[in-house]
Amino acid sequence: MNTTPEALISEAQRILLICHVNPDGDAIGSLLGMGWALRKMGKQCVLACSDPVPPTYHYLPGSETVTSEPQGSFDLVITLDASDLRRVGPVYTSLDLSGVPIINIDHHITNVGFGTVNLVDPQATSTAEVVLALLRRLGVELDQTIATCLLNGIVTDTRGFSTPNTTRRAMEAAITLMDAGAPLAKVTDQVFNRRPLAEVRLWAEALRTVRLEGPIIWAEITPAMRLACGFTDSGDAGLANFLITANEADIAVVFNQQADGKIDVGMRAVPGVDVSAVALEFGGGGHPQAAGFSINGSLPEVRERVIAALKQAWLEQNDSS
Ligand code: AMP
Ligand code: MN
Ligand code: MN
Repeated sequence: MNTTPEALISEAQRILLICHVNPDGDAIGSLLGMGWALRKMGKQCVLACSDPVPPTYHYLPGSETVTSEPQGSFDLVITLDASDLRRVGPVYTSLDLSGVPIINIDHHITNVGFGTVNLVDPQATSTAEVVLALLRRLGVELDQTIATCLLNGIVTDTRGFSTPNTTRRAMEAAITLMDAGAPLAKVTDQVFNRRPLAEVRLWAEALRTVRLEGPIIWAEITPAMRLACGFTDSGDAGLANFLITANEADIAVVFNQQADGKIDVGMRAVPGVDVSAVALEFGGGGHPQAAGFSINGSLPEVRERVIAALKQAWLEQNDSS
């Protein structure tokens, strides 16, 4: 079908917006920012995610409206920060959405282009940046609410404007959002400097499991640890980002076992090392320096397979450089 996001949005009345499972700050910020903008255009919107909004992002306006059980019928679906349709989880399959067009808004190099329209820009630091460009095309005037949500996405995915893909364009996008009233210092403080005590306790448990194998540092999170710490979120509490700060490591991995037995594998790499191909090999996706996938199996078995694949990838990348 030869259509545009503008045309699909202008024809739609009731729009379902969905971000990826285990949402991060870009997923939630893009979801909320896009939702507020569409409401400003007079559209009815339902904002959905298969998992709860992490407490870190509860400060964002509208975060309490995100549901894991959207009801009713929709004439348009917009996915945010999801590289394939499985990545939005059961929220999508729980509804009969056959024949409903999809606008796929994302920035993952591994995006498979599953939408009716695909707004995928791998040069963008964040999906929030892609949303901002779309809002310009739609002629939506930014306000403080939209801008704060989108800045939350940029700040999270660039880790405070520190990742190698933080371009002039990303900085300009942030300035545009600040001009519209987004409070950079507050957003940065919320994203990086505030966390529930349960998260600190989970780190204490998980850090006991840390091992270094060659260039790879890894740790595990189990459902028992989460329970013991009162940690209700399903994510890794930022542990992979912390592990990759170890000088001795080129690659960091967190094996995060979920209540249903599945293991979410989150990987990070130092600049110059790429873990996205290994994520794809295991059915996931991501970026060169941050990628992941979800897999069935026991912790020791999954660990062995993943570490072997990462060692192999690391050796190949170091051979050719
Ligand atoms: P995380 O370690 O969960 O923060 O994820 C790091 C990066 O990998 C993010 O860009 C995610 O979008 C991507 N990613 C993580 N898990 C998956 C998955 N199961 N499928 C596709 N991409 C994933
Ligand atoms: Mn994300
Ligand atoms: Mn993102």
